[in-house]
Amino acid sequence: MSNGADQPLDDFVRELVRDDAAKERFGGRVQTRFPPEPNGYLHIGHAKAITLDFELAKEFDGVCNLRFDDTNPNTEDTAFVEGILEDLDWLGYQPNGEPLYASDYFEQLYDWAEHLISQGLAYVDDQDAETISQQRGGFGQPGTESPFRSRNVEENLELFRKMRDGAFDEGSRVLRAKIDMQHENMQLRDPVMYRIRHEPHHRTGDRWHIYPTYDWAHGQSDAIEGVTHSLCTLEFDSHRPLYDWYLAQLPLPGDTPRQTEFARLELTHTVTSKRRLAALVQDGIVDGWDDPRMPTLRGLRRRGYPAAAIKEFCSYIGVSRANSRHQIELLESFVRQHLNTTAQRKMAVLEPLRLVITNWPEGQIDEVEVVNNPENADDGTRLVPFTGELFIEQDDFRADPPPKYFRLTPGREVRLRGAYFVTCTGFDVGEAGNPTTVYATYDPETRGGNAPDGRKVKSTMHWVSAQHAVSGSAALYERLFAAEVPGNETGDPMDDLEPNSVTRLENCMFEPSMAELASGEVVQFERLGYFAHDPRTPLLFHRTVGLRDEWARIQQRS
Ligand code: ATP
Ligand code: MG
Repeated sequence: MSNGADQPLDDFVRELVRDDAAKERFGGRVQTRFPPEPNGYLHIGHAKAITLDFELAKEFDGVCNLRFDDTNPNTEDTAFVEGILEDLDWLGYQPNGEPLYASDYFEQLYDWAEHLISQGLAYVDDQDAETISQQRGGFGQPGTESPFRSRNVEENLELFRKMRDGAFDEGSRVLRAKIDMQHENMQLRDPVMYRIRHEPHHRTGDRWHIYPTYDWAHGQSDAIEGVTHSLCTLEFDSHRPLYDWYLAQLPLPGDTPRQTEFARLELTHTVTSKRRLAALVQDGIVDGWDDPRMPTLRGLRRRGYPAAAIKEFCSYIGVSRANSRHQIELLESFVRQHLNTTAQRKMAVLEPLRLVITNWPEGQIDEVEVVNNPENADDGTRLVPFTGELFIEQDDFRADPPPKYFRLTPGREVRLRGAYFVTCTGFDVGEAGNPTTVYATYDPETRGGNAPDGRKVKSTMHWVSAQHAVSGSAALYERLFAAEVPGNETGDPMDDLEPNSVTRLENCMFEPSMAELASGEVVQFERLGYFAHDPRTPLLFHRTVGLRDEWARIQQRS
C-alpha cells in the first residue's frame, strides 16, 4: 500500500522490521497480530492498527493473525466476536488461518504460572485489590511489600491450585509476579497475574475460576503463536519491560516477540474509546453500534464510507510515536474523493415543492438522457422521465429572493438539469404564506438543457417527475460531538454532544431508478451530496458527506 503519492510507505516500525530482517532475527520471519478484545465493535482507531498489522505483514511476506484477547469474562460476548470478524472482512483483510483466542491458551498460561511459582517468581497474595493498589506506592514513592510475599513455593502452589478449583471468593486472593516493589516503573511492582472470577466465559464456560490479566496473557499469547512484532498503542509503552520480563522467565526457544508502540488514532469531533462508544449506545444517545453517526466500522459502513477510503486515510496519516489528533475533514476528503469516482449520480428532491409547467403538452412524457457519472465514461447514461408536473427543492424557489439568489424566482429563467430551460410565471401560497405550487413555462427549443441561441442561465436545478417519483426518506447528520476535542473543557465528552445531530426528512422524492437501488449502495444526489442506501430500510438514505471539500478550505486557511 502507498501513501497516495505512490511512494512506498516508510516509518519507524518498518525501519525496525527491516533492521530485524537484516539481522536475521526470528530467522527473517515477520508475523504480526491484531488482538481485539471482544467487548465492543471495532472503530476507526482500530482501522489504523489493522492497516498497520496487515499491510506490514504483506510487505514483508509475513502473516498476520487475528487473536481475540478474551481474558475478561465480565465484558466479552460472542456477538462482538462475530461483529469483529465481519468488520475485518469488510475492510478486506484475511487473517492467517482461523481466528485465534487467548482463552485457548488458558491451560498453557496456567502451566507457565506454576512454572514462575516454582522458580520463586510468583506468589499468592491474600490481600484485596485496594490494599494492593495502596501498597504499590507511586512515582517517587516507595512500594510496600505484601506480608504474603515470602510464602514458600509449596504453599503458593497449593493455594494457586485451590484458586483454580474455585475454592475462594472473588477478590479474596490474586497471583502476583515477584519482581521489585521499589522499581521505578510501577508496572514491575509485583503486578497481578490472575484474579478470581466466578463468571462463565463466552468460550470456556465455567471451566475456569481464575482469569489472567492482559499483561500476563498478551506477550505469552504472542510467543505461543510465533508472533515476531507485537504492535500496540502508546499507552502500553510502560508495560513493555513487563512484557519482556515475563518472556525472559519462561522456557522459550529462539527469539521472543518484540513489542513496539505507536500513537493512537484520534479524530476531531470524535471519541475512539470502546467504553465511551458503549456508553453512547447504552444511554440511547445513538441507535446502536451501527448508527451512522458512530465512528465504529459498522457505523461508517452504514453511513456509506468505502473501506478503501478508510484504508487510504490510514496509510496517508502513517504511524509515528507522536500523539496527535487528525481533522475529521481529512478523513471525509478521502471518502469524497473515492465516492466521486465510484458513486452513480441520481436525481433526488429531499424537500419537495411542486412545479407545474403550464405550456407542457397534456400527457407528454419525455425521456431525457443524463450521465451516470461524469468521472467515469464507462458508466454510461440513463433515461429519466420528464413531465409537466415536477418536484424541485423548496430551497430552489424564492418568492422574494435575497441578493445574489440565482435560482427560481418569478420572471427568472433557469435550467432543469438535462431537460429544458423554464421561466417562473407565478406561484400559489398556502395558509402559512409558504409557496405550495410554482408555475413556469418551458422553452421546447432548449431540450437537453441548452439554448440554440446561446443564451445563458445562472443556475441549474435538479428535479423529479411527480408522476414517476418514488418516495422515501433521508437522514442528514451533524457531528455527534460539537467540540473539536470532546471533553476538553470538562473532562467528560458527553458534555460536548451536539444536541441535534440528525435531521430526518420523511417526504423525499427520488427518480424512478432508485426503486431498484441495492441496499448499502452509495449514490450522489445531484447538488446535495453522497447518500448511502440503508441496508435494512428500503429507500432510507444516510448522507455520507456533502459535496464541498472542507479539507481544502481548512488547508487554505492555515
Ligand atoms: P479502547 O480504548 O477503544 O477500548 P482498546 O485498546 O481497549 O480500545 P482493543 O480491542 O484492546 O481495544 O484493541 C485492539 C488493538 O487495537 C490494540 O492493539 C490497540 O492498541 C489498537 N487500538 C485501539 N484503539 C486504537 C486507536 N484509537 N488507534 C490505533 N490503534 C488502536
Ligand atoms: Mg485494550
